[in-house]
Amino acid sequence: MTAFDTADPILRRGLRTVDVAVVGAGQSGLAAGQALQHAGLEVLILEAAADVGGSWPSYYDSLTPFSPARFSALPGMRLPGRSNRYPTRDEITDYLRDYAVRFDLPVQIDSRVLDAAWDGQAFHLDLAGGYRLTARGLVAASGASADRMSPTLPVWPSSPEPSCTPPTTAARTSSPGKE
Ligand SMILES: Cc1cc2nc3c(=O)[nH]c(=O)nc-3n(C[C@H](O)[C@H](O)[C@H](O)COP(=O)(O)OP(=O)(O)OC[C@H]3O[C@@H](n4cnc5c(N)ncnc54)[C@H](O)[C@@H]3O)c2cc1C
Repeated sequence: MTAFDTADPILRRGLRTVDVAVVGAGQSGLAAGQALQHAGLEVLILEAAADVGGSWPSYYDSLTPFSPARFSALPGMRLPGRSNRYPTRDEITDYLRDYAVRFDLPVQIDSRVLDAAWDGQAFHLDLAGGYRLTARGLVAASGASADRMSPTLPVWPSSPEPSCTPPTTAARTSSPGKE
């Protein structure tokens, strides 16, 4: 059982259409999902990993955010403790899980989005496990650490080359001085 264990049955229960599909259950996907759900839309957050929290669980253990708790929280829920302290990596990870539970966000874990195609009216998503989902809207919150994928749209300017190399897995999982 994962720390976030409420999500698995969503697609198996037969859900095939939602208002908005959100790709990724990191801090961006959770915040977007909460706002969309609050606006009364039916949302499904699709997460490739076995838990919510995005990149935070795999960062080195001594990492703290660059901003204090009062500037690091997601909309609608404070980070616990004093507002001027710097939470640890594990506190941020726990906070993101708690956020998903507190707002009862519909997250489908172990559900990588393999493809998303727009037919002029809706997005059609192919998911790991052979599931398919149709959504009127799509939020790409898959982070900077995954393979980058930019949509090809007639009015989209060509994507600039990234100005820096994303952190390697080793850099993200090791504490400074421990490599
Ligand atoms: C050293 C360091 C320090 C940092 N400090 C801060 C800080 O102080 N404050 C701050 O705000 N940020 C900080 N960041 C950056 C922060 O970690 C990222 O901004 C944040 O994780 C981005 O959140 P996200 O939800 O966009 O992406 P992520 O956290 O990367 O989450 C993306 C999620 O999408 C999922 N995903 C990817 N592809 C798919 C797919 N095809 N289908 C389904 N799911 C998919 C991934 O599994 C992942 O769970 C720091 C980063 C580093 C490396």
